[in-house]
Amino acid sequence: MGQPAHPKASPRLRLRVTAAAEKHIRAGHPWVFSDSVREQNRDGTAGELAVLFDRADKFLAVGFFDPESPIRVRILHVGKPLNIDAEFLRARLETAAQRREGLFDTSTTGYRLINGESDGWPGLVLDRYDTTLVLKIYTAAWLNWLDTIEPLIHARFPAHQIVFRCSRNIEAAANASRKRFAPLDSRDNAATIFKENGIRFEADVWRGQKTGFFLDQRENRKLVESFARGRTVLNAFSFSGGFSLYAARGGAPSVTDLDISKHALESAQRNFALNTGDKSIAACRHESIQADAFAWLAGNAARKFDLIVLDPPSLAKRETERAGAIRAYEKLITAGIGHLATGGILVACSCSAHVSTEEFFVAARSAARSSGRRFEELQTTRHAPDHHATFKEAEYLKGIYLRF
Ligand code: SAH
Repeated sequence: MGQPAHPKASPRLRLRVTAAAEKHIRAGHPWVFSDSVREQNRDGTAGELAVLFDRADKFLAVGFFDPESPIRVRILHVGKPLNIDAEFLRARLETAAQRREGLFDTSTTGYRLINGESDGWPGLVLDRYDTTLVLKIYTAAWLNWLDTIEPLIHARFPAHQIVFRCSRNIEAAANASRKRFAPLDSRDNAATIFKENGIRFEADVWRGQKTGFFLDQRENRKLVESFARGRTVLNAFSFSGGFSLYAARGGAPSVTDLDISKHALESAQRNFALNTGDKSIAACRHESIQADAFAWLAGNAARKFDLIVLDPPSLAKRETERAGAIRAYEKLITAGIGHLATGGILVACSCSAHVSTEEFFVAARSAARSSGRRFEELQTTRHAPDHHATFKEAEYLKGIYLRF
């Protein structure tokens, strides 16, 4: 269990880092970049534990080593020396679970239990969908630890099943290591039904994006519900209709889903069908448009709405795409404003970590001003409490609400 990744005879991997990195690590930053490593006692293998020492040769931190990534070490623990073992992970799981206690009542059974680095679990998330827990790893370092983690989760959350998933870049390593990862062609696995603020949703926990649903948008959806009464709604990049269901419950007479994916639109239709017990949802006219949202918004000038949600996928996958993404947001928001009826509300979100919150808000306000229409900024939003971000690079989600 644990650490078979390097030959037994090898001494523990030890690193020294620059003074600046030492400062950042002590302040809680969970990544050590390759150019911060000053000294290393030997070559390290992917996923093994590395111990970092400070300038006085004292223990500084311990984390997962990755010789191939610019993030050379992902910190697990800073401070006094201790063993990374089952007890350490049990305590971390407990802390993360307790953080969520009291955040949600029984009307919400879908939320994030472990949010990666920000919960002390670098490159690992654990999401709850009713009695299904989805454990998704984004670094192969965790592969050696899954047999340790699994019983801990079962002990903390009895009567829950665990679905194991991994990011695409580590699929080969994951499949080589064990057979329990969600098979991409698993047709027999039905969608999981859970509740978010009393609305029922399906999540494709086996194949869906992220862990099957965008749990991070819960609070924005609730806000959209509060603005929806009497407003016709366009939900662009609608995915499985999260914003649409809330708008419908909030009293929107009609909701239009716009997404490039047929699969996503069908999921939204099923989600509407799951909630016909709610009078407002049952009464809402629901339209689906399968199209490229950028192209659709550029045309179809005659279609006006009283509330438009723009929640595109990340427009900057890497730092070099940042400037282009900012321009793309401004253009997209300009196009959205063009479809807003007088008095209409625009909700624009960005999930690009490479575009800062301020850059996004500036782009949105600039688009609003350039429209020449009078507008009022209603509010801005950031991360949900179960998706808290403890360091700058983890901040990705932001939203802005503008009334014209
Ligand atoms: N707002 C959603 C999450 C959006 S995820 C929610 O609350 O759950 C991004 C969505 O954009 C995905 O469903 C994806 O299919 C869709 N998408 C990606 N590129 C697109 C494009 N060019 N035009 C329309 N939809 C697109």
